[in-house]
Amino acid sequence: MRRSRQTAEHSAAEVTRARAERHAAEKTAANLRRALDVIAQGIVVADSEGRIVFRNRSAAGLEQPRHEDTLVAQAVDQLLAESATRGAASATLELHGPPSRALHITARGGVVVIDDITQQRQLDAIRRDFAANVSHELRTPIGALAVLAESLAGETDLAVVARLTDRLSHEAERVALLIEDLLDLSRTEAEATQRRDAVALGDVLSEAAERSAALADQLGVGLQVDVLPSAVVVDGSRRQLVSALVNLIENGLRYSEKGSQVEVATERRADRVAVIVTDFGIGIPGPELDRIFERFYRVDRARSRETGGSGLGLAIVRHVATNHGGTVTVRSTEGQGSTFVLDLPARSPS
Ligand code: ADP
Repeated sequence: MRRSRQTAEHSAAEVTRARAERHAAEKTAANLRRALDVIAQGIVVADSEGRIVFRNRSAAGLEQPRHEDTLVAQAVDQLLAESATRGAASATLELHGPPSRALHITARGGVVVIDDITQQRQLDAIRRDFAANVSHELRTPIGALAVLAESLAGETDLAVVARLTDRLSHEAERVALLIEDLLDLSRTEAEATQRRDAVALGDVLSEAAERSAALADQLGVGLQVDVLPSAVVVDGSRRQLVSALVNLIENGLRYSEKGSQVEVATERRADRVAVIVTDFGIGIPGPELDRIFERFYRVDRARSRETGGSGLGLAIVRHVATNHGGTVTVRSTEGQGSTFVLDLPARSPS
């Protein structure tokens, strides 16, 4: 009698403990599920028979019943089956989209991890292209330098020596300009998230005009900069803003004919300010308008070479605009000229 009461008490305690344990286990599972749901990677878990028992939110999102997501579900099933016999299996899946995406899927011990590697791929491609472009751009003037130096060695005719050294310094300037623009671009990229100062736009305009004056003189193109009516302040980097403006003004000058004019004006609209650079030069063909902001893209390679452009100017301008929460746009008519608008958020006057 006594004994059976003890047993009953014992089993009641056991039930309570088991309940508490189950409760704790459920809580842990819920926490784990929550943790897995916030992970960007897709996670799929299968039981020992290979049946899928869990998908986190990302995986569920990737496997929705659109055509390409069926491909993801199929790949997951296949890799699970393969990993059951071989221990681990992985594959890269190219989805043509749009938008096109690349997923890396790995299965091991009944757990599948889906990584979206699209962005990484794009960054790698941009980096590869950039390195290839830089080498290509440097090879031409450096090759020319080598040839000129060779011709110079042993040359006794002073007139020829003068001509060759002239070309030598011209090529050296091209290399210097390219390197300067490359440094400017990489500094602008690195500074993207750095401290912002209150920059008076009027000062930026006068500094940019000052820096472009020599080129305007040299090319015989007029430069007219409107004075800002009131103190307009932009939050950001003075160096970057001057560099963007100099690039826009110098392009205007370079792609104009002698005797022409480049005009810089500003327009204040509520909490924004637009800096407008207009030239009456050669203009840009419509189909090229979207591409001119790409690094090293030039409409006319020969002309750009002649004018001494690096092909990086507008890439720098676009980067500066983005860093300041603004945009740069262009309107142009071939043979009539171009207007570039750098639109920036400005502080409201206090
Ligand atoms: P670049 O150093 O060659 O001038 P940019 O990035 O500044 O490089 O400009 C890219 C290309 O866009 C130039 O090569 C030129 O073909 C075209 N472009 C830029 N600005 C103008 C302009 N104001 N008028 C005509 N074409 C321009």
